[in-house]
Amino acid sequence: MPVFQTQKTLQIELSQALNQSKKIGFVPTMGALHQGHLSLLEQALSENEITVLSIFVNPTQFNNADDLKKYPRTLEKDVALVRKLNENILIYAPSVTDIYEGNTLSDSFDYDGLEHQMEGKHRPGHFDGVGTIVKKLFEIVKPTNAYFGEKDFQQLQIVRKLVAKHKIPVNIIPCKIYREPSGLAMSSRNEHLSENARNESKLIHKILLEAKEKFMLKSAQEVTKFVVRDFKKHKNFTLEYFEIAEEETLLTCKRKIKNKNYRAFIAVFIENIRLIDNISLK
Ligand code: AMP
Repeated sequence: MPVFQTQKTLQIELSQALNQSKKIGFVPTMGALHQGHLSLLEQALSENEITVLSIFVNPTQFNNADDLKKYPRTLEKDVALVRKLNENILIYAPSVTDIYEGNTLSDSFDYDGLEHQMEGKHRPGHFDGVGTIVKKLFEIVKPTNAYFGEKDFQQLQIVRKLVAKHKIPVNIIPCKIYREPSGLAMSSRNEHLSENARNESKLIHKILLEAKEKFMLKSAQEVTKFVVRDFKKHKNFTLEYFEIAEEETLLTCKRKIKNKNYRAFIAVFIENIRLIDNISLK
C-alpha cells in the first residue's frame, strides 16, 4: 500500500469503501508517532472496516514559528511503525499545498467560549488552526468515526463542538491518555527532552495525582495554590498554567457543583519544551 500524498489519490482509494457504506475510522496526527498514537489506531482498527491515518504538521495551528520549525518530522520511521501494526492502514501524508492550495490561512471559529480557556489563552489562534485542518480532513476522508486523545482534552471538546455546530456526520471517539511507565504522558515533544528532563518530567503526573486526591477534600483554589507552590520548588520547570475546570464548558471551577465533572489541566516548560497533561478529578 503506497503512502497517499494527495487528497485525490486517497479519495480514489476510499471511493469504493464509501460506495459500499463501509465504516471508515480516522486518526489525524502530526506524526512522530509513539505508542499513544498507536493506541488510537488500534481502537480504530477494532471498530471499523477501513482505517485512515493522516500525518500532517499543520502550520496554521502553530502560534510560534520556531515551534513549527522544530516540530519532529519522521515520516519514514512513522510509516514503518504503522506497517508493523497493520499492513492495511491507509496513510495520508499530504504536503501543505495539497491541503491549503496556496492559501495557508485559518478560518475563524466560534466554539462557544471553549477557545478562550487554557491553551486558547496561551496559544492565540491555535484552535482556529485546529478547526481549519480538522474540518478539511473530515471533508477529505469522510470518516464514520474519528479518534482523538484525551491527552489534548480541550482539543477533543473543541472538535466535538465543531462537529455539532457544522453538523458534520462523524462520531468523535475519545481515547484514554497513554503514559510511559513513569507516568509521563506520551508526546512527540518528549523526543526533544534530555534523559534527565524526561526523568524529571514524571513529576507532572505525580502532581496531578496529588491534586486529584486533594480535590476530594479541598477547594479548586486551595489545590491550585498547592500545585503552584510545589512547582516553585522545582527550578527546572516553569509552570505556564494549572487550572481545575468543568469538563463541558472548560470554565474554571470557582465552587464545586454536584454532578459536574471536573478535570485538572497543566502546561509546563522544561528545557524550553512545552508539555501539557490533564487528569479527570472524578
Ligand atoms: P498529535 O500528533 O500530537 O497532534 O496527536 C494526534 C492525536 O493523538 C491527538 O488526538 C492526540 O490527542 C492523540 N495523542 C497524542 N498523545 C497521546 C497520548 N499520550 N495518549 C493518547 N492520545 C494521544
